[in-house]
Amino acid sequence: MKAAVAHEFNTPLTIDDVEVPTIGDNEILVSIKASGVCHTDIHACHGDWPVKPNMPLIPGHEGVGVITEIGGNVNHLKKGDRVGIPFLYTACGYCDYCLEGKETLCPDCLYTGYHMNGGYADFCRADARYVVKIPDELGFIEAAPLFCAGVTTYKALKVSNTKPGDWVSCVGVGGLGHLAVQYAIAMGLNVVAVDTGEERKALSMKLGAKHFIDFKKDKPEERIRSLLGTGVHAAICTAVSKAGFDSAYASVRRGGTMVLVGLPPDDMPVPIFDTVINGITLVGSIVGTRRDLEECLDFAAMGKVKTDIQIRKLEEINQIFDELEKGEVTGRIVMDFES
Ligand code: NAD
Ligand code: ZN
Ligand code: ZN
Repeated sequence: MKAAVAHEFNTPLTIDDVEVPTIGDNEILVSIKASGVCHTDIHACHGDWPVKPNMPLIPGHEGVGVITEIGGNVNHLKKGDRVGIPFLYTACGYCDYCLEGKETLCPDCLYTGYHMNGGYADFCRADARYVVKIPDELGFIEAAPLFCAGVTTYKALKVSNTKPGDWVSCVGVGGLGHLAVQYAIAMGLNVVAVDTGEERKALSMKLGAKHFIDFKKDKPEERIRSLLGTGVHAAICTAVSKAGFDSAYASVRRGGTMVLVGLPPDDMPVPIFDTVINGITLVGSIVGTRRDLEECLDFAAMGKVKTDIQIRKLEEINQIFDELEKGEVTGRIVMDFES
């Protein structure tokens, strides 16, 4: 099968002919039809984070397709089912977190396209217990980004301590952030979008943001305070930039929440005095559970969110990474495996 393979950190991926994976009793084989490109895949190929991925690696955790093989213990899925393989490849199933339905916090969890080969390939192996079915209303291309960008931002909003009518800032309106804007609006929140460039401004306003702030032209925290008279109830930060995190923190009102989602390889020094005096809550949010994913897919199936997609090919992966790193991509890139 054809796959994009990272052989070493910080070197271009190569398009290789590799063996189709064999599956275990609890696993399935998925013929990939579409695969979204997440900024996390770039962090993985750079070895940006303290926990390193296994090399050589087939990245990708927004792979969706059709089941072509089923392991002996799998009864709840069948050949032909349409599924997506999210970032959470597997979890133990028995720890406190797994038992409470918080499997993304399982200390023994493994990540797709990181610890395990992912969706930048014609076929991908998956743990049958952790894939989620794609609603009939959604095609493969439009479903793919929801398996990471969608569920991650949906979950970030769920943990943001907000209620309808509150103000949120979506700091970063990239692949994740432009879905954050839509989920927030679908939840009845008012959105201030923060990013740069006319295209992202136009997209944010089309999606229903009340304001767009260009971080290269304005200081977002100051502009937010002048627009609202105070800070936001919650900031959802998906920016791949420490400056974005600092600004997001500074834009939260007293009693508000900052949700940390983006993963630039930096530290974020938090002022103790301001956090205490202003009663600020800081929440780290990692992807979402299978239940979150089902809910997030339902929003899309009902037409309440729609990813802004550029369709590309697997062979273009190095160019795609380059464009993402330079901040040239608006919306999400999805690689089409069917054409
Ligand atoms: P992306 O490249 O599509 O979007 C990032 C956006 O941040 C770009 O639009 C960029 O212009 C913007 N940005 C950069 N500096 C900014 C600033 N100072 N203020 C506001 N915006 C700024 O990336 P993506 O695929 O959306 O991923 C974003 C980040 O989220 C990555 O670090 C990725 O690894 C991480 N991520 C986290 C989770 C999680 O579970 N927490 C899941 C998926 C991705
Ligand atoms: Zn991702
Ligand atoms: Zn567990």
